Amino acid sequence: MPDVLTRLAYARRVATGESYQTAREALVRDRGAGALPAATGAQALLESMALRCLGIGEEFWAHPMGIASVRPAPDRVTVELDAFTSSPYYPGRFYGRAEHAGRCLLPHAQHGDMHGMVGLRIVELRGLDLHVTLVGTASRMILRGARGAGWRGQLRLYQQSTSASGFEALYQEPHLTEAEVEHLEYYPEESERDRELAWLGSGLLRRIGLFRSATAAFAVRPWVDEFDEWNVELSYPFTTTMDHAPLLAGLTDRRLGLPLRVRSTTCHCAEPRSATDQRRRVCRIELVHRDELPGVLQLRFTSEPAGWDASGPRQRLASAGADPRWLDRVLPAVAGGR
Ligand SMILES: [Zn+2]
Repeated sequence: MPDVLTRLAYARRVATGESYQTAREALVRDRGAGALPAATGAQALLESMALRCLGIGEEFWAHPMGIASVRPAPDRVTVELDAFTSSPYYPGRFYGRAEHAGRCLLPHAQHGDMHGMVGLRIVELRGLDLHVTLVGTASRMILRGARGAGWRGQLRLYQQSTSASGFEALYQEPHLTEAEVEHLEYYPEESERDRELAWLGSGLLRRIGLFRSATAAFAVRPWVDEFDEWNVELSYPFTTTMDHAPLLAGLTDRRLGLPLRVRSTTCHCAEPRSATDQRRRVCRIELVHRDELPGVLQLRFTSEPAGWDASGPRQRLASAGADPRWLDRVLPAVAGGR
């Protein structure tokens, strides 16, 4: 019978995507902080905002949101990025996940036009690790690039392309810049929403592995809507059974889950479906904080219509470096070709 530490390390690995050994070492190092420590304050805000930015777009990656694993600690999180991003517009074309993440996250501005994450700053670059923070705080996120990620070269290219298009890169500024302050003043509801939803976004990032290990979705896309809800859409081909229960169990697990309870469920899985059904089927499950903290998590399990052609997504996932065995599970190859 495995001891408690061994069982916890295996369970944590499922939630984070870490190796068993890494999970076990973290459990020993951070004992007292819980089996999967929660972030608070600026740390939670940094993580939640980063997940919101990293999830934007229709790109494909080998893992949900292009994050292969996370290593959560009480005061920081390490986010291990996939190697490649597959463009939705140019099938077969791919580029580095690190490059894509840098473009989404690093703040740049021009005459009131602000892109990237307000207040994000680079504090350190060490090999494959890019350390970022929210300016004026002790928060820390380590973006770990895949081998060959070359952050230094990426940052040089980013500087060149932002200044060539008339933007100013802000990631080294010691304080919030005028452009960022203006943005915060112009969109107060956005920063209010970010603060309110930080516990949830950070909690999801710290359990990113569940969206791979506890589901058979071929794509997972998170976003925050104007109703102050975190949405996560999980996509399935027509023939796959949508697996709600394992993900719910993982997200609400007593030791490793979030303090969430299910508020409502709309599930169509038991309804008969004809083999020629052309509608997308969507099941929605809403979760809220057990102690009524603001913030709603809406999981949308989406099944594609009959006759939906999986070859495009399959090709894009393959070009992004997805594991062929996982691809066979989530997007079974069609007889006669892939
Ligand atoms: Zn359902």
